[in-house]
Amino acid sequence: MPAFRTVRGMRDFLPRDAERMRHVEQVSRELAQLYGYEEVITPVVESYDLLAAKAGEEIRKRMFAFEDLGGRKVALRPEFTASMARLMATKMRNEPKPIRLFSVGSLYRYDEPQYGRFREFWQADYELLGSTRPEADAEILMLTNDLLKKLGLRNYSFKIGHMEILRGILSQEGVGEEQQNRIMQLLDKKRWDEALTVVRSAGVSQNCVATLKKIFGTKGKEAFRVLKDAEESVMEYEKSVAAVKNLREILELTIKSGVELDVMIEAGFARGLEYYTGMVFEPYISEIEMALSGGGRYDKLVELFGGESIPAVGVAQGVDRIVLAMKKQRCPPKIAKEKKVLVIPVNEEYVAKAMELSSLLRSAELIVEVEVMARTVSKALSDADRRAAAYAVIIGPAELTEEKVVLRDMIKREQKIVEIKDLCKEILRRFM
Ligand code: AMP
Repeated sequence: MPAFRTVRGMRDFLPRDAERMRHVEQVSRELAQLYGYEEVITPVVESYDLLAAKAGEEIRKRMFAFEDLGGRKVALRPEFTASMARLMATKMRNEPKPIRLFSVGSLYRYDEPQYGRFREFWQADYELLGSTRPEADAEILMLTNDLLKKLGLRNYSFKIGHMEILRGILSQEGVGEEQQNRIMQLLDKKRWDEALTVVRSAGVSQNCVATLKKIFGTKGKEAFRVLKDAEESVMEYEKSVAAVKNLREILELTIKSGVELDVMIEAGFARGLEYYTGMVFEPYISEIEMALSGGGRYDKLVELFGGESIPAVGVAQGVDRIVLAMKKQRCPPKIAKEKKVLVIPVNEEYVAKAMELSSLLRSAELIVEVEVMARTVSKALSDADRRAAAYAVIIGPAELTEEKVVLRDMIKREQKIVEIKDLCKEILRRFM
């Protein structure tokens, strides 16, 4: 047999790494509950057409797509939003609005594997459906800020833009949607010159090219100054002016709510996913060049899948990259201190009693490992450190006749005899 390895771009998560991933997942889930987002679980395999509809060329060509045995064209989901929009257009269409949905799970893109880019990765996804109001956009920003803060990350900043600033200009100049998408893809990859070549070939005015160039350079940390510059540049494009106004409202609201966001406004910011129609954002830390998450408003997607027109805004938190960021900034993994106890019978005769006591301790929410290798007590104890057990319960004949066991503190290396009826209470008290 050859020595099997993971498939390129796929990873195993050994216990410590799995713990970090699950920790981020857990905090994301708790945050969802705090904000009233209800969890849904959708399939990893969806119809190709659904996933391809608005994913954008970049993601479309990197999908794990195949024909299933029934001849259906399917794919592994490359993102969550299409599945969420499908739910809204079908099974949840009659639910009262707003609807707040949360989902977490694995996604698949045939990206070139590198630091922070994998073919299987995880996202914690939040979608707020039913509102066009700036407070909905502000909520998504606030929630993302809360998540990163709760996980202990520092000095992160939000790159923020608005899709309609650019699209507003291009539509008024008569550039069709397909070409607009192409331009957005190029801008997403910072290929400004190529984007301008496509713009020119669409037969736009001189003024349009000049305005776009100005917009590409309109960015900075002083949000309201940048927005004022952007507004002046797009004066002749009605939809773009409205977009700048909308972005200003969202930011004003966020700031007035007392959220301290470090922002970097980029008027020419474009995201590759085609469904975005409004505010878009990505949080960054300086130690990693890649975005930790990606979010924005998508008002037309649900309708595209046959539902009524439901405006929406959401964010996909990149669990893997957040874990990398936490490692870079040496954030504690914040794994709950393990309340682990080893239960060791002195010989075979006491195995059943050891199993019985292990159930008793687990019913008190303690993590219990029973000795299953029939090792001597001293051998089993010498393994306790490696197993990160704080206590050992040793079961032998002398004590058992009196319904007692030995409780050993593995850190202080002390032990005492405890009555079985007091055992849980005694261990829990020590763990407090
Ligand atoms: P997107 O769905 O492209 O807007 O991405 C949202 C977030 O998902 C990104 O900011 C990343 O954190 C994460 N992400 C996207 N693609 C990958 C990938 N190939 N590997 C790891 N994380 C990814």
